[in-house]
Amino acid sequence: MQVVTTLEELWQARAGLPGPVGFVPTMGYLHEGHLSLVHCAKEACASVVVSIFVNPTQFGPNEDLEAYPRDLERDLRLLREAGVDLVWAPTAEVMYPPGFQTWVTVEQLTRPLEGAQRPGHFRGVTTVVAKLFNAVRPHKAFFGQKDAQQAAVIRRMTRDLSYPIEIVVCPTQREADGLAMSSRNTYLSPAEREAATVLYRALKTAAAAYQAGERNAETLRGLMREIIQAEPLAELQYVSCADYDTLEELQVVEGKALLSMAVFIGKTRLIDNWVLD
Ligand code: AMP
Repeated sequence: MQVVTTLEELWQARAGLPGPVGFVPTMGYLHEGHLSLVHCAKEACASVVVSIFVNPTQFGPNEDLEAYPRDLERDLRLLREAGVDLVWAPTAEVMYPPGFQTWVTVEQLTRPLEGAQRPGHFRGVTTVVAKLFNAVRPHKAFFGQKDAQQAAVIRRMTRDLSYPIEIVVCPTQREADGLAMSSRNTYLSPAEREAATVLYRALKTAAAAYQAGERNAETLRGLMREIIQAEPLAELQYVSCADYDTLEELQVVEGKALLSMAVFIGKTRLIDNWVLD
């Protein structure tokens, strides 16, 4: 496994990789969720490239950029064991050279949900992913359903900017009790860790109501709200039952829909979602 930092090293290493090339962008501090994307990529591609970059432009001024967990040595060991061919871990100076002023923005799709709560977040995500795509030139890129709006935004950007890249979205990996794996779970105290299962419980309850025939979106949102509000350590930021493609809030669930939420457990902000199909 080759590990590179600069663009020149990346280009040189990339030139020697047999195609199709699969790409998994990450912010590091890897868990089974990230590794599941690597496994998907290995199955579909001859070579796999992983990037590790905690992208400063997708964090708001009051978010956890400084505190975000990092452990490059451990990440490299896990990626070597997973059979990755090339790891690119650029510095902020490589990604954002002095005088940087060029941005990629996706409009409508980034307005609701995470975009409404985290102004500028998706501009940072799309800009960095566009730059990663330009540098790595993969045939396929792998993203997690865990970040459903991010996956939708990246799909939109890929189409709109004519990248010759197939976007593959892989299922959310969960702990045994249902909590979606996330690097941010390491912030949780033992009591908070227990409380954090409330996101999954709320989603499952709404999904079960849908399975039983409930189609009123506000009723589904209400069920999720009620469960979150019953958990003393949880503070709800939003719950949503939205159209799967446009992410606009629904009144009635007719086609494919997305249940999603953001919840503070103590100071830790967690997101999760469930697809109704
Ligand atoms: P991050 O390092 O948090 O930026 O995540 C990198 C990639 O891993 C993104 O495509 C995420 O959607 C994906 N990912 C994060 N957590 C999970 C999970 N629990 N299951 C599946 N994919 C995940």
